[in-house]
Amino acid sequence: MSRIQVEGLTKRFGEVAAVDRVSLDISHGDFLVLLGPSGCGKSTLLRMIAGLIEPSGGRVLLDGRDVTFAPPRERDMAMVFQSYALYPHLTVERNIGFPLRSRRRPRAEIRQKVREVAALLDLAELLDRRPRELSGGQRQRVAVGRALVRDPGAFLMDEPLSNLDAKLRTATRGQLRALHHTLGSTIVYVTHDQVEAMTMATRVALLNAGRLEQVGTPTDVYDEPASVFVAGFLGSPAMNLLPARIESRAGRVQVLAPGVELSLWTADDQPAREVTLGVRPEHLVLLPPTSASLASSPTSTSPVFRGVVETVENLGGEEVAQCAVGDARLLARGPRPLGLRPGEPVAFGVPADRVHLFDRASGRRLV
Ligand code: ATP
Repeated sequence: MSRIQVEGLTKRFGEVAAVDRVSLDISHGDFLVLLGPSGCGKSTLLRMIAGLIEPSGGRVLLDGRDVTFAPPRERDMAMVFQSYALYPHLTVERNIGFPLRSRRRPRAEIRQKVREVAALLDLAELLDRRPRELSGGQRQRVAVGRALVRDPGAFLMDEPLSNLDAKLRTATRGQLRALHHTLGSTIVYVTHDQVEAMTMATRVALLNAGRLEQVGTPTDVYDEPASVFVAGFLGSPAMNLLPARIESRAGRVQVLAPGVELSLWTADDQPAREVTLGVRPEHLVLLPPTSASLASSPTSTSPVFRGVVETVENLGGEEVAQCAVGDARLLARGPRPLGLRPGEPVAFGVPADRVHLFDRASGRRLV
């Protein structure tokens, strides 16, 4: 097991900072997922940790030792790539044993280790096959096996499941989670798939344009997004984000937006300003039809969104309704049937603790 510390790590390609002053403390046994859209710098960050790319600035520490410019073989980490990079002419047994052979370990030890790893990954029956005789999922497990056989301090994985179909991906996610549980090893895992991040990670690090937006448990980053970017990236459909303005009135913060009645108690007084109001589609609760046609009541304290239904989409078990609220669009998700029809007025409530406010200018979370 290894602790990996990244301090102010930066990589510039010409004018572009692919990774921009990222700091992370990855503890022993963490399963840290680097998550973000294509091009946000995930792979570049992982490759700097692996020693495959030299940083333009900052440091990488492995169990407290500065390895920023150390070659990969001195880092005690094993990497699993998206392409698996198996040797096509070698059997599964020889592919898995390759790292030990190149370290000139005794033959008996290699044989023993390969058998152990193959048993763990359910590959024992396939040791004599070559990669072309394997399914995608089996190839992926051989690639993991080749990393595992070295007993590394940490595993670095770059989108290892992206070549698998949806069903196999789900199954392999479970296997990787179980493997992490059994071995307790440190894993740093790159993906742009939020489901992989939410289901496997002990902690998620969200990157946007080379910058670290937030690090936290999957629940933390979903329930308390630190920025508009994180709020809009996670969730399917993503969080509704509406322009609004806040003003403090009589000890409460009043949120002003067309079609929205909302005031909140906040710990600190908030100066009047432009904000982005966020609420997740699954947190909108349909109010009885009478509430939709009633005029707003000045005494109401629980948040209400009023608008008109535009479309209703059937997802099988659930429905997603798109509604016009003022000039904005709001998506609501709930069990089918929601009982909504296009053209009809609609009102939603939402628990006050499910309302998010972000500063419009900086995008950072206020409430
Ligand atoms: P993806 O999910 O698409 O793989 P990523 O988040 O892993 O994306 P990176 O591959 O780290 O992103 O790339 C980050 C940025 O750096 C991108 O804008 C990319 O074009 C740029 N970049 C990466 N490698 C190089 C390079 N060798 N030369 C120039 N620019 C590069």
